[in-house]
Amino acid sequence: MSEIIVQKFGGTSVGSVERIGIVANIVAEASKSKKIIVVVSAMGGETNKLVKLANHFGENPDKREFDALVSTGETVSSALLAMALHSKGIKAKSYSASQISMRTTDSFSKAKILDVDADKILKVVDDNTIPIITGFQGITEGGDITTLGRGGSDTTAVAIAAQVGAKRCDIYTDVDGIFTTDPKVVSNAKKLDSITMEEMLELAGQGAKVVQTRAVEFANKFDVPVRVLSSFNDGSGTLISLGEENMENALVSGIAFQKDQVKFTLHGVGDIPGTAFKILGPISEADIEVDVIVQNVSVDGKTDFTFTVSSDEQATVQNIIESIKKDVNFRELIIDSSIAKVSIVGAGMRSQAGVASAAFRALSENDVNIQIICTSEIKITMVIDESLVEKAVQVLHDEFNLDE
Ligand code: ADP
Ligand code: ASP
Ligand code: MG
Repeated sequence: MSEIIVQKFGGTSVGSVERIGIVANIVAEASKSKKIIVVVSAMGGETNKLVKLANHFGENPDKREFDALVSTGETVSSALLAMALHSKGIKAKSYSASQISMRTTDSFSKAKILDVDADKILKVVDDNTIPIITGFQGITEGGDITTLGRGGSDTTAVAIAAQVGAKRCDIYTDVDGIFTTDPKVVSNAKKLDSITMEEMLELAGQGAKVVQTRAVEFANKFDVPVRVLSSFNDGSGTLISLGEENMENALVSGIAFQKDQVKFTLHGVGDIPGTAFKILGPISEADIEVDVIVQNVSVDGKTDFTFTVSSDEQATVQNIIESIKKDVNFRELIIDSSIAKVSIVGAGMRSQAGVASAAFRALSENDVNIQIICTSEIKITMVIDESLVEKAVQVLHDEFNLDE
């Protein structure tokens, strides 16, 4: 049997019936030489509309019903794409998560994929039929519909590619590949021909939404080569490479940023063993990802404990902190929702010093105040005021000559 390629088409790529027709052409062309499995997102804007509808009867809709509703966009696009392929004389069938047993955990809206019925998908492929699978959705053990978090169709695609042993997962989107930063924010951002898996993990984790972080994690875990390319323009896109690169690693490969963040500071908390765990334990139990975590040196046995979470989690985290107040003494809880994170990523940082100081100088010369700095081997993350993000990203992009 010829090699299998999983093709994933994002919302803009299937944003209208005309666009679905174009996607059908791409699929038809590829199917001449390869076995193709397709994963689709909802038509652009549809998921947002469903989220808005869900909030009509109250701000906190039932989580199960929320997922049942917002998962439906993908059902529409998968059936439409199958029809578009039929109109070209190509055999195709749409499949929902339940039809291919895409089993997930039961944390609604951020469910994690557990496993999928690869044999069922492969049977369809063997029958010379192209399976068009709904992205973003899953089902629990009990048969409830779940969703995988915004941008989750990427993860569906990579998970299926891993399970069926596909040669590659091609993620078709509205830009030509992975750029040095978001090309919609920095007009001279440059497309990369390839990027290492570890760099992509950091960029995605720090907000470059071009590929969902979980999808990159899957690709890394199961060694799935992933290519990101445009469904609008021809081109070879960007390959996320699995192996070590032979060439010198770039000092800085890209800049990611993330708005919709909120910073919590517990001011005047006791500097005693167990404090960090008492604060972050219940937050992690609630399945909430905590990002930048900083604790200051203490003065008179008291310190400040700061961390950031996604804005969606603000109310939940606030409730948790209120509930542990009797256990963790602190003077004041300060919540700042007008912050954002900007991150510089580059594998070459490991072996070369000076990136951090160059970044700090460039930002200070442009009046961007850095509130928190947090580093890892190949990444520097800075928390800044949300209104300065675009400026900071442009300044850093220029500082490291990423357009060259
Ligand atoms: P899709 O609907 O195809 O899944 P997304 O909107 O989720 O598309 O992701 C593509 C978008 O990601 C691009 O339009 C771009 O604005 C944004 N983006 C952010 N960072 C990058 C980057 N480093 N390279 C390319 N695109 C990026
Ligand atoms: N339709 C979902 C969203 O808008 C999933 C996806 O597009 O990947 O987030
Ligand atoms: Mg996406």
